[in-house]
Amino acid sequence: MMTTTVAGSLPKPAWLAEPEKLWAPWRLQDEALVEGQQDAALAWIKLQEDAGIDIVSDGEQFRKHFVHGFLEHIDGIDWQRMTTMGIRDDRYDAQVPTVTTAVSRKKSVHGEGAKFCRKHTAKQLKFTLPGPMTICDTIADAHYGSRPEMAMAFAALLNEEALELEALGVDVIQFDEPAFNAFMDQVPIWGVDTLHRAIQGLSCKTAVHICYGYGIQENIDWKEGLGDEWRQYEEFFPALNDSKLDQVSLECADSKVPMSVLGLLKDKEVLVGAINVASETIETPEKVAATLRAAMEYVDPERIIACTNCGMAPLPRIVAEGKLKALGAGASLLRKELGGS
Ligand code: ZN
Repeated sequence: MMTTTVAGSLPKPAWLAEPEKLWAPWRLQDEALVEGQQDAALAWIKLQEDAGIDIVSDGEQFRKHFVHGFLEHIDGIDWQRMTTMGIRDDRYDAQVPTVTTAVSRKKSVHGEGAKFCRKHTAKQLKFTLPGPMTICDTIADAHYGSRPEMAMAFAALLNEEALELEALGVDVIQFDEPAFNAFMDQVPIWGVDTLHRAIQGLSCKTAVHICYGYGIQENIDWKEGLGDEWRQYEEFFPALNDSKLDQVSLECADSKVPMSVLGLLKDKEVLVGAINVASETIETPEKVAATLRAAMEYVDPERIIACTNCGMAPLPRIVAEGKLKALGAGASLLRKELGGS
């Protein structure tokens, strides 16, 4: 009961990439880079274990960015043909590559990383992949002509990757879909279908992470205009609850998402974000426990997994370490209170 995990990313060590920066270029090359990524993943696995995190992740140390880290290994994308696109429903502009022919997966993307992590931890292991809708919102299309169609093509490739990760011993595969809250009305129409394609044939746990984004300025500005209560999720949580995915991950720490929306996920395990990743203040274990306790009003404790709001990649490493410890300690406090161990 009240097990713990992380949403996904953790900061890169300073010797691997420039800290506190998204898209930071690698500071190592070739074999040294692979070795460095492995060392960084190893450090984070140990730090997660020490903090009492039950389902550990590689901290996304093997990829530069949560979407492009996957796309870099996909054929059919022209990286010279960069298109300026307003992403997340025009929240901000980004330079994105362009799909010019049918996409295919030339080789495993995260297989080697997963194999390495599996060898070095006895804990449950989680790997994250970008969701099909979010991929389509982060790349320009000059081939498919329709987003749902392109998303389905990517979903088939994600499924190949996910089946391989499962075979390597990965226990939880999570799809990151921050685009879900930019295109709420599309989620029930094709967002869930493309996720179903991505998890086809999997028997491991499957999760979807939805979110209001990292603590970057564009997101902070956008959140200002969302009102005092963020009820956007009400529009598609019924569709998510009806879906075949096992878990839903969302932000609940210092969040304007009303806890009552969790009541719409009555058939899911809920990864309750109890760590605010947009603040460098380290939560106390009591505060983490309070967030989890508030979620218990709408979710049975057996279905709650304590988690971070989102990835911690942009935070200073020392802060992320402190937040991991607070997460583990807060969940442990609550377990004791509930009479568990
Ligand atoms: Zn997120």
